[in-house]
Amino acid sequence: MGRTMTAVKPPGLKQLRNEKALKVYAVVLCILIVVVAAARWLRVLCNRRLRSWPTRGGALYRAFLLAFRQLEKRPRWKWLCELPVGLLLLLGVLLVINATLSVTIIAGLRINYFASRFGWLAVANMVLCVLLGLRNTPLSSVALVSHATINTAHRIIGYSAAFLVAIHGILYTVYFVRQGTWERLFEHGNIQGFSAGAGMLVLLFGYMRHQNYELFYASHISGFVVTVFFTGIHRPDWAKKLPIVMVIVACMWAVERFLRAVKMAYHLVGTGLCQEAAVLYPLTDGGTRLLLRSRRAHSVPPGSHCYLWIPCVGLGQSHPFTVVSSGSWGMELVIKAHDGFTRRLSELATEKPGSISWASIDGPYGSLPDLQSHEKLVLIAGGSGAAYTFGLMNHLLASHAKTRPQSVDFVWAVKHSGQLSWFQQHLSQLKRVSEGMSVNATVYITSEEVAQERHVDLVGNLAEPGADELSGLLFGGECQQLAAEQTPGLYSCTYKYGAMSADDVLWDAMQTVASLERSLVVTCGPLTLMRAVRDAVESYREKHRQRIVNFYCEEFS
Ligand SMILES: Cc1cc2nc3c(=O)[nH]c(=O)nc-3n(C[C@H](O)[C@H](O)[C@H](O)COP(=O)(O)OP(=O)(O)OC[C@H]3O[C@@H](n4cnc5c(N)ncnc54)[C@H](O)[C@@H]3O)c2cc1C
Repeated sequence: MGRTMTAVKPPGLKQLRNEKALKVYAVVLCILIVVVAAARWLRVLCNRRLRSWPTRGGALYRAFLLAFRQLEKRPRWKWLCELPVGLLLLLGVLLVINATLSVTIIAGLRINYFASRFGWLAVANMVLCVLLGLRNTPLSSVALVSHATINTAHRIIGYSAAFLVAIHGILYTVYFVRQGTWERLFEHGNIQGFSAGAGMLVLLFGYMRHQNYELFYASHISGFVVTVFFTGIHRPDWAKKLPIVMVIVACMWAVERFLRAVKMAYHLVGTGLCQEAAVLYPLTDGGTRLLLRSRRAHSVPPGSHCYLWIPCVGLGQSHPFTVVSSGSWGMELVIKAHDGFTRRLSELATEKPGSISWASIDGPYGSLPDLQSHEKLVLIAGGSGAAYTFGLMNHLLASHAKTRPQSVDFVWAVKHSGQLSWFQQHLSQLKRVSEGMSVNATVYITSEEVAQERHVDLVGNLAEPGADELSGLLFGGECQQLAAEQTPGLYSCTYKYGAMSADDVLWDAMQTVASLERSLVVTCGPLTLMRAVRDAVESYREKHRQRIVNFYCEEFS
């Protein structure tokens, strides 16, 4: 019985108030998520219920859709980075909440109390940032938000967390200096705080991801690990809850990584393993076609994207690519060469066309736009962005949905006619459209003079290595059966030389749309093209305020 009982010290007022403030923040965040999800679903519902003829409730659905459109507008001011009004509003609300919570529910008007509060708010934003940064973030399916929007929010929240950490550090420094105890800055616990801050600085290098993605990725992972670890031991007292929060963050991250590893293992194909393999074919202008021959890949819908891992090309890397087509044979990716992974892949395919490699995918990811709930589709792609629009078309053609668009304008701009071979089979297969649907395809060749002989080539088959195999896989078996079952619709394809005007394309496409019909414009490709299409949609909407013209932009960066 000689043991002495050590009493657990109850948390102080400062700690209690900080905890209360964070609970308020968590509740507000949950409400915001519910509001965003409800708004997104309401929008989908209104669009689905709207008909191209007057119905009961039709006016209400239309009014809702037109109101939602305001949230998509992008203010022209450069400093707002062309973010849509909806996202700006959301970020504005978060800013106001952060500002309010930094000065309210506080234990007293002392500088160290404010310093501590900024630290806690930084931690709360770190949690949100990690949640948004996960590939498998639940927020994307709950709120139907695109990969690009979530990634933008992830970055902005990350910058805010770093800003709050800086204020936290500055205020504590001022406090210690004023007290004449500046040496406390270097006592145990605070050194760990500085280390966490240094980790966060590394995370800020995210802006250089376009310069060197591999360096950015390695620095981001190490910065994250350092930040979480040192934040956890900055105030190691479990009663103060900081280690608990960091353990939760670390577990969230680790579990998600584990899930990704499981998916990778499931999709792994090897050289000859059960006759499954990744086969590489070179394409003109540095492209690569990859056929992942695996029965397990059939459930990956065209138009979604997955992360490709090929150990002999980049052991520690996986890159996102859009699924152009898939079936019981596997799936197809078309990849444009840049400077890193994609360049090495292209070199391998050129050196050994038809070479077989170990590979795997993690996916599918991304939510596809609701194609079926529109009478008119306008798909505009530039270069390799056509992987997305052909993916959507393949998805649409394979679907058995009762309602479908009646008319599709499919526009693809390439610099050189050689690039047509990248999707030639898919282009010619657009004629598989079923009865009641018409497809009007237009291909722009923007950097070549009109050449009659070339034109003959274009309409013929541009033979590339792997083209025969691809045609057999894609359009043999299942597709022939499907084609035999359905009565064909209308199809036309035109080749044009010279620059493409997004305005002209859109206005031409919309000429045949009746005033109550719903249209969806989808674009994917170079930034300049996507901006031009977005502006064209904006100006069309300005002139036809009552028309439902939805817009979806898939970014590859
Ligand atoms: C959702 C999505 C779908 C995509 N689908 C396709 C497709 O079907 N076909 C296609 O050709 N390209 C596609 N891309 C682009 C493709 O992922 C990049 O071109 C590729 O990762 C570049 O690799 P790299 O090492 O050669 O790049 P680098 O030469 O190092 O960099 C070129 C550019 O690619 C970006 N990038 C590099 N690695 C990644 C990565 N892991 N994630 C995101 N961006 C990266 C860099 O920021 C830089 O802007 C898609 C991108 C996204 C985000």
